[in-house]
Amino acid sequence: MKAIVDATKCEGYGVCAEKCPEVFVLDEWGYASVVGDGDVAAGEEENARAAAAACPEDAIIIEG
Ligand code: SF4
Repeated sequence: MKAIVDATKCEGYGVCAEKCPEVFVLDEWGYASVVGDGDVAAGEEENARAAAAACPEDAIIIEG
């Protein structure tokens, strides 16, 4: 599974990093990006999906 943040949609609410800090990090302005290349470890898949579902801007894409 892989996670992608659409930077054109992210508004910096930070919900993703709260739900799944292993995969999503925030920059100093609160905008999100993925850790490394966005690969989601098996144990984090549920959290990553929860983060995507909770993003108010639908900015998180989950592949695989
Ligand atoms: S929850 Fe969505 S809008 Fe908020 S920081 Fe994460 S990707 Fe951006």
